[in-house]
Amino acid sequence: MRKPILIGNWKMNGSLQANQALMVRVLPRLRMFRKSIDLAVCPPHPYLFQVRDLLGYTGIMLGAQNASGFVSGAYTGEVSATMLQEMGCRYVLVGHSERRSLFGESYHEVAARYRSVLGAGLTPVLCVGETLEQRDSGRTDLVIEQQLQAVIDEVGLAAMANGVIAYEPVWAIGTGKTATPEQVSAVHQQIRQFVAKSAPEASDDISQELRVIYGGSVKAANAFELFSLADVDGGLIGGASLHADEFGTIAGAL
Ligand code: 13P
Repeated sequence: MRKPILIGNWKMNGSLQANQALMVRVLPRLRMFRKSIDLAVCPPHPYLFQVRDLLGYTGIMLGAQNASGFVSGAYTGEVSATMLQEMGCRYVLVGHSERRSLFGESYHEVAARYRSVLGAGLTPVLCVGETLEQRDSGRTDLVIEQQLQAVIDEVGLAAMANGVIAYEPVWAIGTGKTATPEQVSAVHQQIRQFVAKSAPEASDDISQELRVIYGGSVKAANAFELFSLADVDGGLIGGASLHADEFGTIAGAL
C-alpha cells in the first residue's frame, strides 16, 4: 500500500572527495532495494550537482535539506525550491528540528517553505517532533499537532498526502538515544489519527496514504525493530547515512 521510503540526511557533512568515496561504496549496497523502496540522499546544497551525477541512473533520488519560502528575489543566502528542482531534487526536508531550534524557523516559516516545495512540484518531507522537556511535561501530542496544523493551515490537508512526515523526537537526534518501539508507534498513530480527524470526509484516503517515517539515532542495530512497526513507513537517517555499510543494512531492514 504505502511504499517504504528511506532518506539519508547528510547534514553539514561531506566534501567533493568524501562524497565520491561514500557514493562509490553505498550505491552498490542500495541498488538492489531501489524497486521495493524509495531511496534518497540529501547532501548540502553545493554538492547537489556532484551527487546528482554520481547517482546517475541508479534510481536513487536526490533530496535537499531545506528550501526558501520565497520564490525569488532579494533573499541573500536562500535557495529556492525551483532551483532545487532544476538541480534534480525530488525531495526537500522542511522544518528539521535543527532548523527550528538553531536557526529559529517558526511554525509559520516552516509552513511557507513547505508550500514553496510543493509549488515547485517536489515532495516535502515535514519533520516534526518534541523536545525532551516537552515530552516530560506531557506535551508531545500537543506540540506535534501544532506543527502539523501550521502546515495544514497554510496548504490545506489534501496537500499533506503529497508529502512525507518524518517523526524525529529532538532528544533522539544524534544522541544515540532511540525512541522505544512503543513511543514511536504511539506518535505515528497519533499523527495518522490527527490527519484523519482534520478531514473526516477524506480521512481514510489521506491518513492511510500518508507516509510517516521515523528519524533519530536509527542504525543497523535497531532498524529492523523500528521498521517492523505497522505505522512506520521508513526512516530519515542522519549519522548512519554517512557510513555505507550501516546505510545499506538499514535499507535492507525496510
Ligand atoms: P541521527 O540519525 O544522526 O540521529 O539524525 C537524525 C536526523 O536528524 C535525520 O534528519
